[in-house]
Amino acid sequence: MKRINKIPKNKILLGPPLLTKDEEKAVIKVLCSGQLSLGPMTEKFEKNSARWIGSKYAVATSSGTTALHLCVRALGIGPGDEVITTPFSFIASANCILYEKAKPVFVDIDPQTLNIDVNKIEEKITKKTKAILLVHIFGYPVELDKIYALAKKYNLALIEDAAEALGATYRGKKLGSWGNLTVFAFYPNKQMTTAEGGMITTNNKKQYQLLKSLVNQGRDESEEWLHHKYLGYNYRMNELSAALGIEQLKKLNLFLKNRQQVAFLYNQYLKDISYIKLLHPDDKIRTRSWFLYVVQLEKKINRELVMKKLKAGGIPTRAYLPSIHLQPFYQRMFAFKKRDFPVCEEISSRTLALPFYTGMAREKVKFVCKNLVQALKS
Ligand SMILES: *Cc1c(COP(=O)(O)O)cnc(C)c1O
Repeated sequence: MKRINKIPKNKILLGPPLLTKDEEKAVIKVLCSGQLSLGPMTEKFEKNSARWIGSKYAVATSSGTTALHLCVRALGIGPGDEVITTPFSFIASANCILYEKAKPVFVDIDPQTLNIDVNKIEEKITKKTKAILLVHIFGYPVELDKIYALAKKYNLALIEDAAEALGATYRGKKLGSWGNLTVFAFYPNKQMTTAEGGMITTNNKKQYQLLKSLVNQGRDESEEWLHHKYLGYNYRMNELSAALGIEQLKKLNLFLKNRQQVAFLYNQYLKDISYIKLLHPDDKIRTRSWFLYVVQLEKKINRELVMKKLKAGGIPTRAYLPSIHLQPFYQRMFAFKKRDFPVCEEISSRTLALPFYTGMAREKVKFVCKNLVQALKS
């Protein structure tokens, strides 16, 4: 696969997409058609995505964040409601709860999987709890069996944020095919991209119909164009993005396979290095979809210094992810403070995302690892 967004041999990028002539041609074709929104590409991308994921329905959106917001809306979650979720995530998975004036109730994470600690959820359930919003962080599936049991016992809705987990499987089935509202995202650093874009999958026809309406200004397909049945949004995906998505989806199996190879190469170089811990391996029921390559530095290592040294060697890294509850406006709104979620904070202070992308050359992985080992030593 020949990349059109070329990366110079001596340059290391954090997570560029892989775009080819196919994407170029597809986008130009849409441009020349003049139909830039509400057209056949978005419909096709939805159908193909549902088929690839194994869900009955899929709704394309303008981003992962707008997809998450639509899910919260579609479930009727609002003021006074509580939604249980993780503080170790990209901020959008908690913000979407705030958009509807509901309250995110954080539960600390499991230090191995870095996902919400499923054994600590039950004690946080109250009469106000309406839903659990799961995040499959770094592409590693949450233990869905335990979550389903809880959701059933307490009659809770589920939203799965699988924005980092496209292609990850639980008990051999892809995330997004289990029937719950599940969100994917196509920002350029994800496993595949539509520039900006997102997708919601569900197996529930009523939910699907509602989402299709909400994403498109609350319109009702069977009614007139300027008839609005619900308070809706313009969260639609555009045709250029959908055309990109169709081409990327065709290559997704290859992308995922390659990303796993790159990750395993990293693992191989780093597995015996002291001062770092690698991400949790797959087990009998869970397989990770590789989104980022993240290492955890030991406590005594100064992460800032390591990042600075790598940067000096031309290697970009990111301290991914900060704890959501310690973001300034969460602290202001909810009076969160340090030590509220100690496992999450501890992990947040030690995680480091290294350059990682589809098609990353072996020499570059080697170069990053060599520099990382050097930075850890000094
Ligand atoms: C990327 C991401 C999103 C959505 O991101 P957008 O940039 O809005 O597409 C949501 N949740 C998580 C965990 C993510 O990593």
